[in-house]
Amino acid sequence: MIKQRTIKEEISTVGIGLHSGRKVRLTLKPAPADAGLVFVRTDLKTPVAIKAEPSRVNDTRMATTLDRDGARISTIEHLMSALSGLAIDNCYIEVDAPEIPIMDGSGSTFVFLLRSAGIQEQDAPRHFYKVKKRVEIHVNNKWAVLEPYDGYKLSFAIDFGHPAIDETAQFVEVDFGKQTYVNDVSRARTFGFVNDLETLWSMGLAQGGTMDNAIVLDDYHVLNAGGLRSDDEFAKHKLLDAMGDLYVLGHPLVAHYEAFKSGHDLNNKLLRELIKDPSNYEIIEYQDEKLAPKAFTDAVSASVA
Ligand SMILES: [Zn+2]
Repeated sequence: MIKQRTIKEEISTVGIGLHSGRKVRLTLKPAPADAGLVFVRTDLKTPVAIKAEPSRVNDTRMATTLDRDGARISTIEHLMSALSGLAIDNCYIEVDAPEIPIMDGSGSTFVFLLRSAGIQEQDAPRHFYKVKKRVEIHVNNKWAVLEPYDGYKLSFAIDFGHPAIDETAQFVEVDFGKQTYVNDVSRARTFGFVNDLETLWSMGLAQGGTMDNAIVLDDYHVLNAGGLRSDDEFAKHKLLDAMGDLYVLGHPLVAHYEAFKSGHDLNNKLLRELIKDPSNYEIIEYQDEKLAPKAFTDAVSASVA
């Protein structure tokens, strides 16, 4: 049986909040089977817990933000991406600020943190959303699609019309039957443009944005002294983001996700479109691991080791 998973031990770190520029303490704790991924604001007089689910995402302007009763937790997508990549179903995620720290702008610090805590299988079957019908969202020239696929595959195409981005890979595809999150996705960093940053700074946003946590571009070039981590880092980061956005569903998808210029907003709309009609999907378990797609068995054994 493919089982649900949590972390073995509580673990904490401190990082910078992208928007506030302040130190944020992040603590991850084991959670029981079927608890889901539950974010908790510990700095509020009465702590507010927000379970990751599509209806809790209402602001996607800069990042994926969960909200409940006026409490917000922003920039969840890179941590959610790492949780998806390491197949963790249940975790309490405590922060003492309205945002998850940005760390190095990729998923790799969260992977390190989760692996350091250790991964624990739980005595309950993992639930999967198996996509049965094609579901799609189009907004202007951007689109995102979920299609039936016996595994988990993501294909992402970008088009920024920026000289430094246009000369890198414009299309990436990751099939978790053949590739792994840790090796093939986790290290791609977020990116931003100096011009936008100056506007954001004047609005009091992105105060923590530096070349330590993002690829920064002017009108022509990448400004980071070390350049890119890989030739496909821009497209790969969009795929990393999509994994985090899709995992807000709280369960893995058995599907092929394809997108052109998609972002947090479109990804959330796609999830809502999927769950709107129960005939679009089926919630399944794999009682016999031998019958499960490789994407869900190999990822599990790779990240436990
Ligand atoms: Zn991102």
